[in-house]
Amino acid sequence: MRRLKDLEGALQPLQRFSQANPELEQYATSSHLASRMLWTALQSYQEIADQKVCDLGSGTSVLSIAAALCGADYVLGIELDEAALATAKENLVEAEVDQVDIIRADVAALNVDSPLLESLKRANFDTVIMNPPFGTKKAHIDIEFLEVASKLAGTSIYSLHKSSTRDYIEKKANSLGFRGQVLAEMRYDLPKTMSFHKKATLDIQVDFWRFERIKK
Ligand code: SAH
Repeated sequence: MRRLKDLEGALQPLQRFSQANPELEQYATSSHLASRMLWTALQSYQEIADQKVCDLGSGTSVLSIAAALCGADYVLGIELDEAALATAKENLVEAEVDQVDIIRADVAALNVDSPLLESLKRANFDTVIMNPPFGTKKAHIDIEFLEVASKLAGTSIYSLHKSSTRDYIEKKANSLGFRGQVLAEMRYDLPKTMSFHKKATLDIQVDFWRFERIKK
């Protein structure tokens, strides 16, 4: 992809969650946001291209596909939900990317001594990208995602977290051997997919973070 606009355009036709599961906090990343996340990693930090990338909670694989289109060598998506996985497979065909694999696993379960985590570590991912559950349904799941990301990312992690948790996230990242920087603040529109919300949309403040490993 030579231009941000082309990347955004390529993500536009991809399917999002057909029936979002609120328990799993399935909020699709818009083409606008997904393209800017990956473009920033690619252009400002020379990451993604020629790298091995892991996408935690990959959903319908929008971020994985964005990484592939930015020239990632290999992308592995990890997702728990069967319905999202089925849609993701269709999206991979639609996007015509062949360097993306997706597996079904519970990211939280990787955080305890897990044989799968050990084999994932051996894959030597450079970068982890994720739009994790924010922890509004299952307390601390956002932190569990960050912990798993810190075990898999050789160099850096790109992630979204609620702005209200900024100080805590920064300290947590430090304790995991990473230095964090908020690259952008945004209003994240949790749309009508979440039918239990009374309002049609619910804006929450979200930070776009880059975490860089400071020690192994
Ligand atoms: N990355 C996707 C989806 C973001 S929403 C996108 O950018 O569009 C968060 C995703 O995390 C959902 O797909 C949800 O099903 C998944 N998820 C939630 N809890 C999970 C868990 N414990 N293990 C793996 N995936 C999980």
